[in-house]
Amino acid sequence: MKAGVKLCEGPGHFEVKEIDTPTLGEKDVLIRVKVSGVCGVDVLIYDWAIGKTFPAKLPLVLGHECSGMIESLGKEVKGLKIGDRVTVESMIGCGNCYYCRQGLTNLCCLQWEHVGITFNGSFAQYLKAPMSIVHRLPENVSFESGAFVEPLSIVVNMFDRIKFALGSTMVIIGPGTLGLLVIQAARSYGASQIIVLGLEKDEKRLLKAKELGADLTLVADREDPVARVLELTHGIGSDVVVESGGTPESFNKAIQMASGQGQVVILGYSNYGETAPVRLARQEISVFGVRAYRTRHFRQALQWLESNKVVTEAIISHRLDLDHAEKGIHLMRDKEASKVCLIP
Ligand SMILES: [Zn+2]
Ligand SMILES: [Zn+2]
Repeated sequence: MKAGVKLCEGPGHFEVKEIDTPTLGEKDVLIRVKVSGVCGVDVLIYDWAIGKTFPAKLPLVLGHECSGMIESLGKEVKGLKIGDRVTVESMIGCGNCYYCRQGLTNLCCLQWEHVGITFNGSFAQYLKAPMSIVHRLPENVSFESGAFVEPLSIVVNMFDRIKFALGSTMVIIGPGTLGLLVIQAARSYGASQIIVLGLEKDEKRLLKAKELGADLTLVADREDPVARVLELTHGIGSDVVVESGGTPESFNKAIQMASGQGQVVILGYSNYGETAPVRLARQEISVFGVRAYRTRHFRQALQWLESNKVVTEAIISHRLDLDHAEKGIHLMRDKEASKVCLIP
């Protein structure tokens, strides 16, 4: 089968090539991949900027945000059949550590597994997945939307972590895929004001943000975003600030924009460096980390899509065939795309 493979350490070293179609264990499912989104994590592995917390095993087929159709099943697989339209959770806890035993599988501190990180992912014609992470797609959820269940689950987990009262204000730093999903969820949760912050080069993505429900977009390299947010919130700051910009500056800005007892959420992985702990303490700001999600978040994400609470069509900026996977990674890295979908 054809697959997009990260070959060895160092930036790049990626090739779309023929590899063996996976052979199934008794509890595995073989999925004919229909759509595979390109995620920031794929970019990090591609650039080899992942650090020690990501135990990527090379050579590796990237990709973990996907949907497809079941092609074949291991002998012991129950509850699924050939031809089912499905999507997969990406992270698998070890089941045995302190966190997994409490059901907090996303905090697994031992041998966690992850599609497209510790085993071959979905930038391929076929994906082998253990049945425990496979979920059927509701009838009215397309393969394209199905590829968004995974990132949307992270957003569900975020709203599970924070306190989001009706009428809250929210600033979202970074108009990427997650940011664009957060906007829609915040609308459903009854946000009174949603402000999205980007850079000049994010122009297209900021337009999408407007389209999907942002009240206002700010361009950080054209105006002082902290001053503007304070002005727009009558000097108080925002109840919730979602940081998905992923730089030390954007995290610091997030803290500066939060109201007293406000909540700052860090979405996604980045290297933040020095922060502003004094203000965190003085203003009783809570900083929430969000790591992946658990199965119930995944189920809720499916429901959000099924009920059209969240739509994905407008987020997809590029559809490419698998041969152009590397171009897709570059488009995401250079922030030209709000979402690249690969069609293997
Ligand atoms: Zn992802
Ligand atoms: Zn564990």
